[in-house]
Amino acid sequence: MLWWGYTFRVTYSVMYFEGLGVFAVRKEFLQVLERAGRLKELNGDDLAVLIGADREEGAALFSLADKMRCRYVGEDVHIRGIIEFSNYCARNCLYCGLRKDNAALPRYRMSPQEIVASACQAAGLGCRTIVLQSGEDSFYTAEILSDIIFRIKKDLDVAVTLSVGDRSREDYGIFREAGADRYLLKHETCDTQLFSALRPGTFLEGRVKRLKWLRELGYQAGSGNMVGLPGQTMETLAGDILLMQKLGVAMAGIGPFIPNKQTPLAGEPGGTLDLSLKTLAAARLALPNVHFAATTAMDTVHHRGRAKALKCGANVIMPNMTPARYRDSYLIYPCKAGLSDTPEESYAGAVKTVESVNRGISTDCGHSLVGNRS
Ligand code: SAH
Ligand code: SF4
Repeated sequence: MLWWGYTFRVTYSVMYFEGLGVFAVRKEFLQVLERAGRLKELNGDDLAVLIGADREEGAALFSLADKMRCRYVGEDVHIRGIIEFSNYCARNCLYCGLRKDNAALPRYRMSPQEIVASACQAAGLGCRTIVLQSGEDSFYTAEILSDIIFRIKKDLDVAVTLSVGDRSREDYGIFREAGADRYLLKHETCDTQLFSALRPGTFLEGRVKRLKWLRELGYQAGSGNMVGLPGQTMETLAGDILLMQKLGVAMAGIGPFIPNKQTPLAGEPGGTLDLSLKTLAAARLALPNVHFAATTAMDTVHHRGRAKALKCGANVIMPNMTPARYRDSYLIYPCKAGLSDTPEESYAGAVKTVESVNRGISTDCGHSLVGNRS
């Protein structure tokens, strides 16, 4: 007992956190949290301490991240409607069900008319941003895709985000000229070796280069990473946050890796909601004015995953606007939340989630607050 008391005195502090009660937290943790609250720069070790929070420390971390979110990006949540328009992919990412070698997956492509009609439906429901996502599918040439973007921007008062993977600088320029506002290209992991092992034939350098191009072209660039990848450590996750800081991203998606039986990573344990939320909260402290999504993957690993994310740093939610008949073929990972929902149901579900945490819905497009717009 005496030994315990001694350890307690040297290593821990008893703290009262407003609204949370009294907690015993590591002194080291408290020091980092206190510095984060004063917006001091956090290095990799600091971020690893935050991400490694235990249960009680986690509650304090989430509480501060929630306060920072409120102070820097406000109370309203941005709803971005996502249209998964093609599940064809030329890549073979080890973690993803859309990988080229997954012969068990029925493939589909939406026609330009269908994509524009889905965008109209999403805007009609209230989405002020349309996210167009697909595998790396060269069927959609720069000409075809830019025509789709142009038609959406011409007819609807929405922002357009693209998430179609690696393309040439020239293509990115054409999409931007057609009216695309944002581009989401997750760096997935900052570990260069792990990146190339998981994404055969590609390099982290290539992603970083593209994220720089996107910013140069005037896009609001978004990145992000998966949590719980095989071989990943707390330091890797801290490095993911530092990389996003260095890249000056306007938005980010952080979510658990969910193993898919139809991929080489079928037997891996995958990421937990808890570690994903801690990574998200630490990222909010390091990047206070970035838009962070409460990701669908979080809802897939826990039925209240997105609601919890909204309470520890997230301010964006992305209901699925893909027509019901295509949804179960966009199987990046299994048991995806809301798989059988219609766009109307997905939108209503997102609104319900936002309301369940007593937050409002933004009526604007939710452009970047980071200041990297052209
Ligand atoms: N082809 C594009 C966009 C579609 S993939 C691209 O790769 O950028 C969209 C995202 O799905 C990826 O960025 C990745 O982070 C996520 N993803 C893929 N497989 C996943 C899995 N098994 N678990 C969780 N997220 C996954
Ligand atoms: Fe294709 Fe993207 Fe999946 Fe990789 S993560 S296989 S690029 S859809």
